[in-house]
Amino acid sequence: MTLAPSDKALVPFVSVDNMMKLVHHIGIEPMLRGLADYIEADFRRWNLFDKTPRIASHSDEGVIELMPTSDGEVYGFKYVNGHPKNTKAGLQTVTAFGLLANVGNGYPVLLSEMTVLTALRTAATSAMVAKHLAPKGADTMAMIGAGAQSEFQSLAMKALVGLKSVRLYDTDPAATAKAARNLTGMGLEVLACRSPEAAMDGAQIITTCTADKQYATILSDNMVGSGVHINAIGGDCPGKTELAAGVLNRSTIFVEYPEQTRIEGEIQQLDADHPVTEMWQVLSGEAPGRTSAEQITLFDSVGFAIEDFSALRYIRDHIGGTDYYMDLDLLADPDDPRDLFGMLQRAAP
Ligand code: NAD
Repeated sequence: MTLAPSDKALVPFVSVDNMMKLVHHIGIEPMLRGLADYIEADFRRWNLFDKTPRIASHSDEGVIELMPTSDGEVYGFKYVNGHPKNTKAGLQTVTAFGLLANVGNGYPVLLSEMTVLTALRTAATSAMVAKHLAPKGADTMAMIGAGAQSEFQSLAMKALVGLKSVRLYDTDPAATAKAARNLTGMGLEVLACRSPEAAMDGAQIITTCTADKQYATILSDNMVGSGVHINAIGGDCPGKTELAAGVLNRSTIFVEYPEQTRIEGEIQQLDADHPVTEMWQVLSGEAPGRTSAEQITLFDSVGFAIEDFSALRYIRDHIGGTDYYMDLDLLADPDDPRDLFGMLQRAAP
């Protein structure tokens, strides 16, 4: 299915149920690789995109955000929340849905669930970045925070970087046990650890993916040795970080979109002019990635709109010829475009 202008007013809709069917139809790891390819392709044409930091509405409990972007032909946005206390009430920390539209006529061309898709795209982005920055031969990852994102993060590192072993730690042992159970039989050696230090033992990649609305210290300065790649996922809101400033000061920092990351990422702790490298520059050969074996590379991930745009584009291109979507009567479509009222009148009971 292409992104050509739609001549029908029906909008393809991918529900959670259909998204899960599509993932199993394609296969989780092939889909993670496919998403990473789409994301990398869009990062390589970065300058084409309309970019803005996401629009956030904060409350004491969490945040609701809108993430728009456009490449001039297709427009996309994601609605996403982040509510760390939700899991205590049996709700997800992060839920999302998103839309693609045709820039030419403004008509939506896809509406999709994005809770599952966000976990996939975040993991695909992490692994795509690690593929370029992690030390050569990296095969062991510490996964600190074993919540909803953790299995996706682990499998993406397996699919794209060649991870062989994942060492899990969560302050809640039930979460560690859940992730260990889910990852059993997926082709990774899985170890449940009792401390973050134990999880980091021998790991060349350290992923922090915790949820707490505070300046947390998941990694203190003395915990991080040289030569590792840190994939920092959970610090993604003002007042919500995971790494001690000392770790940041010893690292070469890579970001998605600095204008957003300086507000939301780990680097909110640093001066506004602290040097960072934009990941798209590494991918297009304009800036170096890892330059030495001893260097600590840090991906200060917050999640950027272009990754969601790429993920929606991937879904749009892969639902054609499948039963994994339904057509939604989302847009009013009067025969005479100016006779909206007449259409309503004719529908009177
Ligand atoms: P989740 O609530 O399902 O899991 C978070 C886990 O972290 C929980 O199991 C919790 O017990 C654990 N935790 C909290 N404090 C900890 C600590 N000090 N040490 C170890 N574990 C700790 O959340 P999730 O959906 O997995 O998301 C994790 C984080 O990633 C959130 O902060 C979310 O906002 C963020 N996120 C970022 C992106 C991105 O693109 N960067 C995308 C999605 C989610």
